Amino acid sequence: MNTLSPTSWLQALPRQLAALDAQQLRRTRRTVAPQQGAHITVNGQPMLQFCSNDYLGLALHPTLIEAARDAALQFGVGSGGSPMVSGHSTANAALEHDLAQFLQLPRALYFYAGFATNASVIPALVGAGDGIFSDALNHASLIDGCRLSRASIQRYPHGDLAALEALLAASPCARKLVVSDAVFSMDGDVADIPGLLALCERYDALLMLDDAHGLGIRGPQGRGSLAAAGLTGAHASPRVLYMATLSKAAGAAGGLVAGSEDLIEWLLQTTRSYTFATAAPALLARALQASLRVIADGDALRAQLQARIQQLRTGLQPLLARTGWRLLPSDTPIQALVIGDNGAALALMEGLRQRGLWVPAIRPPTVPAGTARLRIALSAAHTAADVAALVDALQALADQGPAAEAQ
Ligand SMILES: *Cc1c(COP(=O)(O)O)cnc(C)c1O
Repeated sequence: MNTLSPTSWLQALPRQLAALDAQQLRRTRRTVAPQQGAHITVNGQPMLQFCSNDYLGLALHPTLIEAARDAALQFGVGSGGSPMVSGHSTANAALEHDLAQFLQLPRALYFYAGFATNASVIPALVGAGDGIFSDALNHASLIDGCRLSRASIQRYPHGDLAALEALLAASPCARKLVVSDAVFSMDGDVADIPGLLALCERYDALLMLDDAHGLGIRGPQGRGSLAAAGLTGAHASPRVLYMATLSKAAGAAGGLVAGSEDLIEWLLQTTRSYTFATAAPALLARALQASLRVIADGDALRAQLQARIQQLRTGLQPLLARTGWRLLPSDTPIQALVIGDNGAALALMEGLRQRGLWVPAIRPPTVPAGTARLRIALSAAHTAADVAALVDALQALADQGPAAEAQ
């Protein structure tokens, strides 16, 4: 291989990587394979995981697997083209129809990925001269979409509707877009959707909600956070653009947007990641149609999930006072145990790993500095014994204290 000239900017890469090491911010991947329920193998070792977004355990559900297999036999594996050319299979069209019905919104579009949906939908809605108002804890894909749009971006403090109102009132922009996670992905708390919508009505703004972590979990029959707020069906507002991913509770992959006929038709015409990306394969669309049926009939799964959430929160309560750890308020599957220091959070993750439990430590820049945490993701696939094992392990590690953790 040719060597780099000593003055090349690429010579800085080893230094930059070393800086990540020094701050304990270098991330590594582990190879995983499913076993059963929440049990997996990680780098060949059996582990009990608390880090999947497969909140209902549907990724391994036999009905979804069968639907995907049958669709592969009928449609093949790849879709072969953009939905605007040849990739819009009868399966994808049927899924969009089912999604709109399930969400009780007029129309839906199915994208190949959630990240690409957000990164591209926002620039299709607003541009230079327009105003975006974005919650400080929004997901990276929303942030990227805001930046790509070239609209002016104003971040309001997390969940602070008074601050948002002040920004909206002062904005000279004719076109205003308020963007928020519906369930915040690192804290697990829920946005005040009626409050956000009321402000959007007052200031003639459009509200875009990312319900990646709410679809399948929240609302009647898991119809999501907008349904939980009573803002679907006859109460749907043309001012709301609902977005969700199909890669989490729905157990497959892809993103969706749903809303009024006009809004969705506009996005169909103008969203670059819809037009210029190959359509999601029909086998995923068919798996997702099956998934929607399982979700709608899934009250028992959701009850099981809620029981695990309550079990964890109750179990961790006695630990908080003596450790200084903070368990953020959340009734969603995302349970954030804030440790604070990057090294301490990593040491705790390592202590759990040695006990066969996999809980990811989430560090800056994914979360604000000084709030490194364990992000415990619960699933209907967890048993009561699984959650008890996690609580016991955290208790044992807390008893050892920070010195022992750091060894
Ligand atoms: C995961 C996630 C996305 C991206 O979705 P993918 O389907 O993983 O591409 C977007 N928004 C939020 C809030 C997410 O958590």
